[in-house]
Amino acid sequence: MKTQQLGSGTEMPALGLGTWKSPADDVYRAVRTAVDVGYRHIDCAAVYGNEEAVGRALTDAFKAGHAPRDKVWVTSKLWNDSHAPERVGPALEESLRKLQLEFLDLYLIHWPVGLRRGAPFPPRPEDFVPFPELDLESTWSAMLELRDKGLAREVGVSNFSKQKIERLREATGRAPAVNQIELHPYLQQNALVDACRELGVAVTAYSPLGSPDSAAMFGRKDDVLLVAHPAIGAIATEHGATPGQVLIAWGLARGTSVIPKSTHPARIAENWSAQEVTLTPANLKAIEALDAKRRMIDGHLWLAGEGYSVQTLWDE
Ligand code: NDP
Repeated sequence: MKTQQLGSGTEMPALGLGTWKSPADDVYRAVRTAVDVGYRHIDCAAVYGNEEAVGRALTDAFKAGHAPRDKVWVTSKLWNDSHAPERVGPALEESLRKLQLEFLDLYLIHWPVGLRRGAPFPPRPEDFVPFPELDLESTWSAMLELRDKGLAREVGVSNFSKQKIERLREATGRAPAVNQIELHPYLQQNALVDACRELGVAVTAYSPLGSPDSAAMFGRKDDVLLVAHPAIGAIATEHGATPGQVLIAWGLARGTSVIPKSTHPARIAENWSAQEVTLTPANLKAIEALDAKRRMIDGHLWLAGEGYSVQTLWDE
């Protein structure tokens, strides 16, 4: 099993199961299958609305002796309506209760976006904490306290730019363990990946297959799906692998951790076997040419609030 070393020296399993958009009944089976196949990393979030089902699956897997708790890495995320420092602890505790766990392995600030408590989805302009008032440093300090208390072994961020990570580090002297960001051949983000490496922040690649199942939700029209791209198909044929495996192998070859989502047992197993695929320098070069700087999760829902723009969200 491949692992990714975090700044603390802790080894995080490099290939995990994503759970966004996985309905509760399906995610129960997906997590049980994943643990049986060998996955030791499950990526969750409060906002995915399925932590209770993930928790049931993990509890049943532990009880059945299919994996011990201390060998399964569980990540969850602080939702945008709980950035106020006094909300951070209760939000983590609610995730722990649903997941039936005593601690998380990793807790992330989901987005550098503030919403008022219980804001509807999608949020209206009045539901936002205006960007200039968003005090990410205070949220980060509260996250660090949870780490110090042992409620999360590691804490980090998601969808953060280099500048925002530097702000957190300057304010507290402590950098996030992980930045979880969208990464796949259409959105390679080399500058941000390199900057994180220099800052000692491990990078996790979300939507590694191009997130085909979020297109309808966001009204996105994907022209050529990554999994159907001829260049990816040709590399897959060369290795006797599938396109999904090539995409996952690419993320692993870059030194990022990768969290593909599936609710289908055969694909969950297929994706796990991507660790056996070693891409050649020529394959990597061919994939490099696919970069289109195209986001599947472009954060447009977050642009309605005061002071939020493409620039403040992704670049500042
Ligand atoms: P992915 O890129 O993982 O794509 C998931 C889709 O690909 C599903 O439709 C799935 O279908 C399909 N699929 C899975 N395996 C294969 C395969 N081998 N071949 C072809 N198709 C396949 O998208 P996500 O956006 O879900 O990203 C992965 C995870 O990253 C999320 O689930 C979540 O945990 C995390 N994430 C985090 C975000 C953040 O803001 N921090 C944002 C977005 C994602 P099926 O299920 O039917 O098999």
